[in-house]
Amino acid sequence: MFRALVVTKTGNDTQTALRELNEDSLPDGDVDVDVLYSTLNYKDALAITGRGPVVKSYPMVPGIDMAGRVSASRHPDFRPGDEVVLNGWGVGESHWGALAEKARLKGDWLIRRPAAFTPRQTMAIGTAGYTAMLAVTALERHGLEPGDGPVLVTGATGGVGSVAVMVLAKLGHSVAAVTGRPEHGDYLRHLGAAEILDRAEFAGPAKPLARERWAGAIDNVGSHTLANVCAGLRRGAAVAACGLAGGMDFPATVAPFILRGVALLGIDSVYRPRAEREAAWSRLGELLDPALLEEATSEIGLGEAVEAASALLDGRTRGRIVVDAH
Ligand code: NDP
Repeated sequence: MFRALVVTKTGNDTQTALRELNEDSLPDGDVDVDVLYSTLNYKDALAITGRGPVVKSYPMVPGIDMAGRVSASRHPDFRPGDEVVLNGWGVGESHWGALAEKARLKGDWLIRRPAAFTPRQTMAIGTAGYTAMLAVTALERHGLEPGDGPVLVTGATGGVGSVAVMVLAKLGHSVAAVTGRPEHGDYLRHLGAAEILDRAEFAGPAKPLARERWAGAIDNVGSHTLANVCAGLRRGAAVAACGLAGGMDFPATVAPFILRGVALLGIDSVYRPRAEREAAWSRLGELLDPALLEEATSEIGLGEAVEAASALLDGRTRGRIVVDAH
């Protein structure tokens, strides 16, 4: 038997509870893993609370990422005792996930634990941090270089935002952090932000074009915020669109694209090939200061995840939330 969070649905009502499950009930997969740490990402919070259409079938064990130890393997790349990391691949959405003591997964989805990090540190980074790295890399591929000018990060106190601020600052960029919670300004400065901006500045309907300010941007909010970010990008600059914390809509005009040649770079962390994942994790190993990462991390147990999920969606959490699953 093992403990897992289980999401069920009756009519329109979602219930999530910690349950004891039998290992026989685990889904198909060729690697069995003892989960050491998982995390609470925005998507997990949507799955747990039922506030967004994340779960594709019920009952579902949520949890899109984990660090764990292989207990049994029928996959040629993994043996019992190997430490592995998982992000995405529909786990916690259509395949039982990692907010549990055990998971059965496909070996093709797993990477080895990056040598630079302990299992707990990999989950302090989690899918949010790995996504921030993908976004920074996308901006660099588009041509962004340190010294180009301020790089904007929206939803800055969140998981993706906090890691994005740390990584961009470490690379030598001047980071402008947008937050709705100015009381966390010192936290953001400590992570490396040079400037703190009020979320309200980006919240209303966007003009087609605004003053050219940003050399690049990472957006976690969507909706009017993303439209305002696009309108304020400098000629030829790009925004990496990661999230929808403010809404899934995109009420913008084409003006920034056709008059300033700006680019909208979509970031999907879920279905990246293994080589890209390993490259992102390896760069995080070079760029993240473990002490700073720890300051952006809090830890809860499996039994606290339901309450924490509501707090996260209500914007009452900060940084990354690690879930101790063992
Ligand atoms: P968090 O909840 O940790 O952070 C989101 C932040 O957005 C909050 O801390 C808050 O920052 C800000 N925010 C929240 N609500 C609103 C609102 N209504 N309007 C404006 N700003 C708001 O989530 P994550 O960092 O884990 O994820 C951020 C987004 O990225 C999510 O939408 C998530 O789904 C998405 N995501 C996408 C991935 C991908 O593959 N594309 C992978 C991982 C995440 P503040 O208080 O500082 O303003």
